[in-house]
Amino acid sequence: MTVGRENLLSTNGLRRKQGERILLVEDSVALSTLLIQRLEEETGAIVTRCGSLAQACKNAAEGTFLLALTGLNLPDAPKGEILDLLLEKEIPTIVFTAMFDADTRERCTGKKIVDYIVKDGAKTVDTVVQTVDRILANSTHKILVVDDARTARSELVEILSRQNFHVLEARSGRQALDILTADEMIDLVITDHHMADMDGYELTRRIRQTRNSEELRIIGISSSSDRLLSASFLKAGASDFIYRPFVHEELRCRIDNNVETLAQLNHLRRLAEQDYLTGLANRRHFFSTMRHHGNAAIKGSIALLDIDHFKLVNDTYGHDAGDAVLQAISAAMSDMCVSAKHIPARIGGEEFAIYLNRLDAFQAHSFCEALRARIEELVITVGTQRISATISIGVVEFEPDETFENQLNAADQLLYLAKAKGRNRVYSTLTLPEAITPATSARS
Ligand code: GH3
Ligand code: MG
Ligand code: MG
Repeated sequence: MTVGRENLLSTNGLRRKQGERILLVEDSVALSTLLIQRLEEETGAIVTRCGSLAQACKNAAEGTFLLALTGLNLPDAPKGEILDLLLEKEIPTIVFTAMFDADTRERCTGKKIVDYIVKDGAKTVDTVVQTVDRILANSTHKILVVDDARTARSELVEILSRQNFHVLEARSGRQALDILTADEMIDLVITDHHMADMDGYELTRRIRQTRNSEELRIIGISSSSDRLLSASFLKAGASDFIYRPFVHEELRCRIDNNVETLAQLNHLRRLAEQDYLTGLANRRHFFSTMRHHGNAAIKGSIALLDIDHFKLVNDTYGHDAGDAVLQAISAAMSDMCVSAKHIPARIGGEEFAIYLNRLDAFQAHSFCEALRARIEELVITVGTQRISATISIGVVEFEPDETFENQLNAADQLLYLAKAKGRNRVYSTLTLPEAITPATSARS
């Protein structure tokens, strides 16, 4: 199974933009049509097509393009003049070419292109789409370049910026550590070895004291001829090592491999933490997150929710419709939780929990009441059926000297009461001040 880059990458906080503009220079109408359709559908970009150098000149003058895709030779520009035009206009360019001999390679890599693709029959369109998708997704990755030599640092920054990465710079190991402390979204560090205040090996060692390779990749670089340097970098926790002067394709591939590895790890982590049907946090992840924070650090309330007469929904409309109801209710829950950083989770078949971030008993009760009312209003359309559902909720505010389990039990008791009193209602310590406090309510 291939995993969509967008799915892979949205976890690091930087969102991928939609509607980026791409200039496609290709004289074959058949290939262009196919490419436009696939690129727009699969990458969310907007493609402008032109079939000649003259037309490309006009387009490049009129619009701003994030990326250009071009063949090397056009009917009115047989010697690759198109590349000169695109690079003069400073449009990052991907070249696709039928022939790739030493001469073509020299022509491409001598110029500052983003990448090249060798046409390979039926796979060409797939490769073009994947490459464009990768370059667009690069904008969601922050790379920190660490080098005390300005020229060397600028060279690398320029290469990475052309690849559409979000690039930050540090002039020393000390500055790199400060930037990393302030910005947790950085997912790759590329560091030179020889630096005045702290060498790259020491920097790597220090970064690894707090950030592991599943969340941050480190690539060491050096122009030294000492082959043992790469071994010591890797031993200190670097993910990779590259010798200067760079072979551009190698540099690109190693960076892409590291970024891809991070994306895959993120994806696996999310699979392990998410409920497959609703996309909410699953039971294990929810409880381990809550316990990890510890009682004293949790400020807010916890709500337990259960769909009313859900068995009846399944019996009346079928199991698939039941699944659609679970998804619709979860989506409404997520929507209400996201901006305030509340954490909704599916903790059982049709049972949910929400950690209500920093909400006291009053605020939590009114949040739950608003959620209950919203679900009651929801009409879920499945085929020709229009289905409604309601939920019951029990909610308590955390008390710092109570155990998490006791407070959960208290919320469960309140939920039980909400059910017993007729369902489609919210019960909290406010509705029933005399009945429930965490200390007296543990059922087990
Ligand atoms: P109450 O109001 O007392 O909560 O009644 P209820 O029918 O909701 O509760 P009950 O515990 O009797 O039934 C829960 C049902 O939820 C039974 C089970 O088949 C259904 N269920 C659990 N997980 C899923 C699921 O993933 N998909 C679907 N469609 N149904 C599920
Ligand atoms: Mg239930
Ligand atoms: Mg139920």
